[in-house]
Amino acid sequence: MEPRHSLLAFVLLTHCLTTVMWWVAGSWLGLSRKAARHWMMASLANGLALALPVLPEFGTPIQRAALSGTLVVLGAVSLRRGLQFFLKIRLTDVAHTIMVMGMALFQITVYLRGGWYEASLGASCLGMCWVLGRTARETFTPLRTEFNPVTAWMHSTMLTLGVLVFGVAAMTCLTPQLHWPWASWSQDVSQFALVFSSVAMSILASFVLGYIVVMRLVRRLEHLSHHDALTGLLNRRAIEYLLDREDQRLQRFGDPYTVLLVDIDHFKRINDRLGHAAGDAVLCAVSRTLQAKAREVDRVARYGGEEFCILLPHTLHDGAIQAAERLREAINLINIPWGDEHISVSISTGLACAGTPGESLQSLLKRADEALYQAKAEGRNRVVLAADRSKHSMQA
Ligand code: GH3
Ligand code: MG
Ligand code: MG
Repeated sequence: MEPRHSLLAFVLLTHCLTTVMWWVAGSWLGLSRKAARHWMMASLANGLALALPVLPEFGTPIQRAALSGTLVVLGAVSLRRGLQFFLKIRLTDVAHTIMVMGMALFQITVYLRGGWYEASLGASCLGMCWVLGRTARETFTPLRTEFNPVTAWMHSTMLTLGVLVFGVAAMTCLTPQLHWPWASWSQDVSQFALVFSSVAMSILASFVLGYIVVMRLVRRLEHLSHHDALTGLLNRRAIEYLLDREDQRLQRFGDPYTVLLVDIDHFKRINDRLGHAAGDAVLCAVSRTLQAKAREVDRVARYGGEEFCILLPHTLHDGAIQAAERLREAINLINIPWGDEHISVSISTGLACAGTPGESLQSLLKRADEALYQAKAEGRNRVVLAADRSKHSMQA
């Protein structure tokens, strides 16, 4: 087997693999479908562009090189457009259309007619530099914001590497008078070097893109496992974890905190009279208000059904009662439009303070629950402070 054939097999194999990978990611996993489809096209275009020059049977060498140059730029445009979809940044279709059309026109006039091989190759390489450079610039901040600086740097380094490789290739083609050291390589060797570095970058790009896609998936799963699907608040598992951490802080450093157990009054009546959807709308409205009126350091969670748990760090008695009353009053003001009427609701709150180490979390939650029960028994729409730990244990 000639080296050229091994190279062709390698190019086709790697690009088939990455194309299939993005096809699976887009159609089966539903991961940013549009972006995956674009990256699949980029892989396909790159594979074809790199395979064409080494395919002796297809057209004349001039036609192959012209098509290859246009395809490689189309691949880069597809990669960029995929990233624009993935990161929800502005599409730059006008610039892309102008560039690809210009490139194709250039290939037809300068190369296919004039046969100036270096100018054609140089123009494609410059096109690649432009697309990759712009992509690196516009994706850095969104990647850093959504993921972390390491991911953003990794991604832009990969693209900058591409700009460098294609930049060197473009300079070599367009400024032969400068006698670049590698300009003396035979056409076969320089073609091999360019194809090889393009394949390496293509594989690297698939890895980096795959990494950011998986990172987003992991973050979504993490978010789903900690948040309630209906209200978007933290779920019971998440607040239990936070309560446990707060309890450890109290036991170790004496940091106090307070727990509020909040329950919507007569919620079942809303469901029964207006339907489950109305009940859901009330749950969402109450959640939004609790979240909006709580301090930033407080943690609001849906504890189950129409019950919420709020953790107030560094807060005891008077401060906690004030906060609970503020929430209760805010809920009283809610007016949820539903059909011809407006739904109003009230909440009852049981409040238990953890001021000194020694009490278990279970016991604290039990006190808050008993206070909530008392608030219901005393007529609802009120805040009840749980009995002190000492009194509570004496009663028990
Ligand atoms: P109280 O004032 O004593 O708390 O009375 P209540 O009617 O609020 O309490 P109850 O425990 O009798 O009813 C709670 C209802 O909440 C029963 C349940 O069907 C409903 N519920 C629980 N989860 C959801 C939900 O996600 N959506 C809707 N719409 N209803 C829910
Ligand atoms: Mg209730
Ligand atoms: Mg309840």
